[in-house]
Amino acid sequence: MDMNTIEAVLRTTDPADWREGDAWLAGGTVLFSYGSYAFGPEPLRRLLDLGSAGWPAITVTADEIELAATCTVAELYALPDSPALESGGPAGRWPALDLIRPCCDSFVASFKVWNMSTVGGNLCTSLPAGPLISLCAGLDGTATVLGPGGSSRELPVADFVTGDGQNALTPGELLRSVHLPASALSARVAFRRLSLSNLGRSGVLLIGRLDGGGQLTLTVTAATKRPVQVRFRPAPEAAGLREALDAAIPDHLYHDDIHGLPEWRRDMTYRLAEEIRDELSAPEGSLPRAVSGDFWPPEKRADGTARNSNGQKGA
Ligand SMILES: Cc1cc2nc3c(=O)[nH]c(=O)nc-3n(C[C@H](O)[C@H](O)[C@H](O)COP(=O)(O)OP(=O)(O)OC[C@H]3O[C@@H](n4cnc5c(N)ncnc54)[C@H](O)[C@@H]3O)c2cc1C
Repeated sequence: MDMNTIEAVLRTTDPADWREGDAWLAGGTVLFSYGSYAFGPEPLRRLLDLGSAGWPAITVTADEIELAATCTVAELYALPDSPALESGGPAGRWPALDLIRPCCDSFVASFKVWNMSTVGGNLCTSLPAGPLISLCAGLDGTATVLGPGGSSRELPVADFVTGDGQNALTPGELLRSVHLPASALSARVAFRRLSLSNLGRSGVLLIGRLDGGGQLTLTVTAATKRPVQVRFRPAPEAAGLREALDAAIPDHLYHDDIHGLPEWRRDMTYRLAEEIRDELSAPEGSLPRAVSGDFWPPEKRADGTARNSNGQKGA
């Protein structure tokens, strides 16, 4: 879509440059789809282009993975094959790396969108079906946010997204990066996703994580307007899980749009949560790994390869 209200495009990563009528421009897949009038009562006047930020897309250390806000979905998808993980250090063995491709694959998008969309743009658009919100919240990611006055603050990604299309950013604030801690990356994980149609937008996306200390963390996304996390130590029985979900998710928090009725999303949340509880309660290796579960037939990706819904190459 032409954004014919735009008077200037400024290459900057400095929140001090921001003024009323500006929008940060990352991959542009939302800005150029929705147009100038979709982001407030007044049309956008300037775009602050992050394209020349020069931030390393992904930084791996023994303690964490740092994703720059400008990291694209394509760059994130390539991480499990990256030489950065093959140095023999602990990062290469982090089980939760297995979540990256199922989450990216939940972003059912064309070649162009896949290669331009960014982690930051996904979080800041704050759609319930934001798959990188699911990934980063499910791994207890921390968002670093830069403010116009030179300030910097950190908050959990699970709290960054506050509703459908809503987040904790105040005017002019810039999401700089997301840090995924080794403590979460080294946990056993389980992934479940449902959509009303093959290649459809996520209607329910749950991530389970069993940490070394025996804490089970369940992160509900897509079904709800914002991420919801429940934590247990030790893992609960089925009734305890249902009670915790009852308490954490009031009916009005289930999302309602063309991708699923709230009643369906609620029912499927309980069903998938129980599957995850069951899987992570069993000894490791005694059940098929959740991330290799296949809810839909293999789908063709834009690069011509076939993958199932969890990103594994198919025939
Ligand atoms: C065909 C298609 C399919 C899609 N499917 C999905 C889907 O399944 N799930 C989903 O969630 N989305 C989907 N989207 C929406 C969108 O592509 C994604 O949310 C994408 O990740 C947005 O990233 P971007 O870099 O292109 O954002 P942009 O368009 O550049 O920006 C989006 C918004 O975020 C703000 N912003 C961007 N970066 C920052 C930053 N670092 N700090 C502060 N504000 C920032 C911008 O100002 C703007 O308001 C789809 C879009 C298309 C066109």
